[in-house]
Amino acid sequence: MASEKIVVIEDEPDILEVLQFNLEREGFEVKTASSGTEGLQVVEREEPDLVLLDLLLPGVDGLDVCRRLRSSSRQSNVPIIMVTAKGEESDVVLGLGLGADDYVQKPFSPKELVARVKALLRRSQQPTLDEAPKRIVRGPVVIEPERHRILVDGEKRDFTPTEFRLLHFLASHPGRVFSRDQLVNRAIGDQAVVIDRNIDVHIRSVRKKIEPHRDLIETVRGIGYAFRELSSGDGATHPAEADPF
Ligand code: CA
Repeated sequence: MASEKIVVIEDEPDILEVLQFNLEREGFEVKTASSGTEGLQVVEREEPDLVLLDLLLPGVDGLDVCRRLRSSSRQSNVPIIMVTAKGEESDVVLGLGLGADDYVQKPFSPKELVARVKALLRRSQQPTLDEAPKRIVRGPVVIEPERHRILVDGEKRDFTPTEFRLLHFLASHPGRVFSRDQLVNRAIGDQAVVIDRNIDVHIRSVRKKIEPHRDLIETVRGIGYAFRELSSGDGATHPAEADPF
């Protein structure tokens, strides 16, 4: 099997070298870029399995790179881990809102970073956690896990791996309310470091992508979120589950 390819976008040569060394030691193929502009070019050219993206870059900064990757046609689904300076919580929230899947804060240990990379790759390659991969039809929303594809009103929409898992998980249990904690643990995976309110950011993004059907994801005040239970005849393939949590 060909090794998985990672593009690292980082302007500090020392950090870049450490990242490259540690990832290559784990068997990954690593391509590097030292600016946002170069990073975008390398990602388009290399079509990597994952992008490691420093936020503080000269010229086109990391948030901009993230935004452009998500809106570009060919690489819009690539998993992205942001690297942020410690304490830049607002950048983290912004970055996740722009479609990054995870983040690490400097200073990080190479071991932690490699674990994060592996976890995200696992998550993005297996979009389903506890569901057999099968097509789910919920009214206007059709989820095809095998093809990693979501259709809304018959039109393909692009979701990040995290958004995909979140929508897939909620839609797999219509009518059932999940807390933010449960969504982090069950939908996103226990490797996630997504803090509580970041779930809200992902949900907001998912809602935007299923427009004009954003109300299919209901906010249950004080508890969390649920995928709206549709009446029979909507093509639902799972009955609602009754088990309480
Ligand atoms: Ca930097």
